[in-house]
Order: sequence, then structure tokens, then C-alpha cells
Amino acid sequence: MLVRNGCARFWGGGIVLRGVCKRQFCVVVFALWCGVFGVGSAAAKPAVKITVSSPGEVGIRIESLPAGNEWSFRNAYAGVLGLADRVEQFRALGPGGVDLGAKKIVTGEFRVGASAETIDYVVKLPLPNAGDVAHVSWITRDLGFLMLADLLPHQLTDVLVEFSLSGGWGVASTIEVDERSGGPIKYRVVAPENAIFLLATSLGRASKTVDGVVIETLITGAWPFDQGMVMKVAAKVLEEYLELTGFKLKSKSTVMIAPLPVATGSVKWRAETRGSTVVLLMDPHAKIANWRGQLGIIFTHELLHLWVPNALWLQGDYDWFFEGFTLYTALVTALELKFIDRNEYLATLGRVYNAYLSRRDELSLIDASERRWTTGNSVVYDKGVLVAFLYDLAIRKDSSGKMWLGSVYKRLFARPATQPANGNEVIIQLLSSTPGGADLAKSYIQGQRELDLKALFADQKQLLKSLYYR
Ligand SMILES: [Zn+2]
Repeated sequence: MLVRNGCARFWGGGIVLRGVCKRQFCVVVFALWCGVFGVGSAAAKPAVKITVSSPGEVGIRIESLPAGNEWSFRNAYAGVLGLADRVEQFRALGPGGVDLGAKKIVTGEFRVGASAETIDYVVKLPLPNAGDVAHVSWITRDLGFLMLADLLPHQLTDVLVEFSLSGGWGVASTIEVDERSGGPIKYRVVAPENAIFLLATSLGRASKTVDGVVIETLITGAWPFDQGMVMKVAAKVLEEYLELTGFKLKSKSTVMIAPLPVATGSVKWRAETRGSTVVLLMDPHAKIANWRGQLGIIFTHELLHLWVPNALWLQGDYDWFFEGFTLYTALVTALELKFIDRNEYLATLGRVYNAYLSRRDELSLIDASERRWTTGNSVVYDKGVLVAFLYDLAIRKDSSGKMWLGSVYKRLFARPATQPANGNEVIIQLLSSTPGGADLAKSYIQGQRELDLKALFADQKQLLKSLYYR
């Protein structure tokens, strides 16, 4: 699982400036992007039909169920609680459509006395708040995101999904249409956990292949930038991370951009990268002078998640690395790609350090990762970034500028993986290949030592010099 929404607060200062140049980007009529009709027959997989007839709810009917008489729904995700309470009117049907009288055992868990062939239910989808909007399903009058993980019971994997939409709506996803199923368009979803569908009344779509890896952009709404600019920035970042990791993503990646349906305060965007999909919700009216720079900053973080942790076979709570170190690596990448300048790089680190000092909630990074969703996630980000920064300085110094923190990623992806490993063990071992790196891990990742970077930040010239060995 990968979720985030807190990183945005570190950015912004120098990049969100006044002045907006408005341009409409072109939209493509739905018929052109609905996919292709397949032929042939599908294997007997659970058939999920999602009906969208009004904002705020979806109807779901699942046929060809595997044998079973219990179904349970996700109740919490990314700090959002009560998701299972949204499931209503649950019915389980036997042969001939006989209602088996499903009982609700506890929130989100339903049971019948016999095996059911079909279940149907309604999921209420209230407008989310600013903190939830990138993480859970919602539908308004002309836009929606459906995340199968909070719509289907846990018990189901490898399903065929079909949509019944009222006039003018279309659906798009990184998931390919199943061409063998015949009849209406169906999507073969092997891992509902990672499946995201965008529902909209108009959409711009583009794709590009970068070094053998396909990236697609789906954009809905009216924006002060065009599809071409988004693709250019996304492809540049993708290219950079292909080089950084030395690892080619196995499947197509999709960036979905849509207007925020709710106000979010001073930070005008929210994002989540799930599986191969980046969802980016922004305020089209935000006063941002340099949209290219703003998109570049967001992409340097979110696109790195396509690799870390999404393409790693690692387990456990190592959020300090895949969030904190990702933020730092993205910051340096944004500098390299000129989305920010040196002043913004230093100013961002300064803001993070001030945020860290203002909270002083001393936890080891491993402890902070375990408690990320119960005690707030700021330590994972604040302390994670600062420790990544210390590693970067140490690695540059030890290698006389030949390597930097980013050099770790190639080694991480070159690691032979025949089975899932413990993320904390693998990454700490990688970072501890020098005595200095081992000390940092003991102090801050495994230990609770307080960071004192006042002297380091006091001499900004020296700081920049140490970052530019190479
Ligand atoms: Zn993140």
C-alpha cells in the first residue's frame, strides 16, 4: 500500500507564485477512448457490474462468485475510517435468484447460511474531505474516482469489471480492456487493491514510450496547461528514474489529472500513487505562475513511488524510506531537472527542519513508520527527509562526489529477490555499507537520537559546496 498527502506542505514557497495563463486543453469525445470491443469467451471469473446512476453512490452486482458464504469490506485506509459503513442494502442470492437472507455480523462483514451465486449492494460515496480525497472512491455530477479496494469484498481477486453508466459518462483506467470477454467492455482486474477507474464526461489522453516503458496521461477539466506539457514533464521524470533505478517498470504507468472536488486550504493539490496509477487532484484556479515547475515537483515525488515501494518486493513498515527518502530524492531530482533552483532546495530543507523542531516528537524512524496512521505521519516525512539529507552528504563525501544517495536505488533494484523480504532489514543493510552509514542507521532509523542540524544549516555556502562535489 502506498498513500500520502502530507508531502505537499514542504513545497510551494517559491513555486506557487501569482499569475495564471489560462488555456483550454483539447478534449476527446468518449467514443474515442472507451477502448475496444473484444471477442471470444472469458474464463469463469467473478463478474462485477458497477452501476452509476446518480452522484454519491454506486450499485454493485457480482455474479459467478467463488464458493463462499462470508464477505468482508475494507474499513480503514490511509487514516480514513468507516469505509465499510458505506456498504448498504447487501443481499446474497442463491440459485434462481433466491434471497438467502444475508446477515450483517459486524461493520462491513456479511454472512449467509449457504453458498451464494450472486451478491449485490449499494456503496454510498459521500464527498470526501480534503485529507481523504486522493485515497477513497467518490463521485460528483461530472467526475468520479472509483478505487476497487473500497468497493469490493476482500475475498475477491482476479475479476472482470463492467460499468453501466448514464449518458455522457465514460471510464478510463491503466487497466487494459479484456478483449476475450466479448459483449460490453470489461476490464480484467487481477489485483483490485491497485485498481483505480476515472469516470468523467470528457477526457484528454496521450501516451509515450520512454526507453521501452509506457507512460500515459489522462486529463479531465479545463487547465492553464496542455496535455503536451504534462506529458513532456512526466516523460522527463520517468526517464530520470529509469536511469536512477536501472529498473524497467513491467507495466504501463498512468497519470490521472482532475480538478479537486473540495477545497484543500493553502496546498492546492492532493495525490496518491497506487500500483501503476498516479492520481493527481489539483485546483485549476490555483495561483501558480510556473505550472511546469509545480507539475515537475509533484511528479518527481509521485512517479518515484512507481518504483519505491510499488515495484519492490519488500514487506513491513518502512515508510521512512519510501516517503521520507523519496521526498529527499525527489527534491534533488527536481533541482537536477531545474524544476527548482538551489535557493528553493535549501529553503525546502530549512522548512522541513523548522517543522521537525516545532514538533519534537522523538521516535525512531522505524517506530514512526509503524505509527504513521495512528499518531500522525509528520515524523516519517520530516525526520525521514533530514536523515536522507545526512546520508546524501555522507555518501557524497565518502565517494568524493562520485556517488550520492540516489546511487543506492540501483543497488536496491539489482538485489535478487526470490521472495518478499523485510523492507527495514534490506534497506538498513544497504545504507550501512560504510561505518558512517551504519552510525546514522543506529542513531536515527533504529534509534531515537534527536537531530541537531543547526550548525549545518548555519553555513549555507558550505552546505551547497558539499552537495556539488560532482
Ligand atoms: Zn509519497
